[in-house]
Amino acid sequence: MKKLIEISTLDDLKACAKKVNVDGWACAHCGLFYGNTEDSEMHARYCCTRVSECHTCGGLSQPHRAYCDACELDHVHEAFQQLEEVDWDGQTPLCIFRGDEYFFDPEGLELFLDGHCIPIDDLRLVICKPQELPVFEMNEYLEDYTPLEDDFFELPKGWQEAEKAVNDYLKKCGHFCWYGGNKRVSTKSLKEYVSEHLWDVSDDQLDGEEK
Ligand SMILES: [Zn+2]
Ligand SMILES: [Zn+2]
Repeated sequence: MKKLIEISTLDDLKACAKKVNVDGWACAHCGLFYGNTEDSEMHARYCCTRVSECHTCGGLSQPHRAYCDACELDHVHEAFQQLEEVDWDGQTPLCIFRGDEYFFDPEGLELFLDGHCIPIDDLRLVICKPQELPVFEMNEYLEDYTPLEDDFFELPKGWQEAEKAVNDYLKKCGHFCWYGGNKRVSTKSLKEYVSEHLWDVSDDQLDGEEK
């Protein structure tokens, strides 16, 4: 804690303040001062603006984004190419790399291609991994409602059985939740499950886009 100084006269009190010249960064528009730390210039710059500087090309990007749209695409493409390539079995769910579009069967994928102007060669898909369900712990669940001695509460027998029943049930449920893994899907294997007329963008799709 800050140590307070004993003051006995008005002169002593006046001597408690001194004038300083402050160096640092301020917003050139509203004047708000941002200090003189490593990040001050950046904070002052973004005070009254809503764009950022792209770390790669130095162009302007969306607020709080490290890269402009073009550089972001390059980075995503580069990161995708670095993943191990595997073939799709036509069954394991897929998802768009760094996206939230999931495909659970070839039909879903065909519907997507049909509705979007994107050639199959440009699709960046990764194999999904099953999300394990969490283990249910009765003690944790009832944490705020059980008397705690030595940080441990011995569950009565019936509750232990209930806990086991829930966990057995969860195990039996299997996986119903997936997330994008780190293996990319080969286009060659996608083509085995997708009708050839959807491999490329059709004239109908292009016409639809232009309207
Ligand atoms: Zn400002
Ligand atoms: Zn850029």
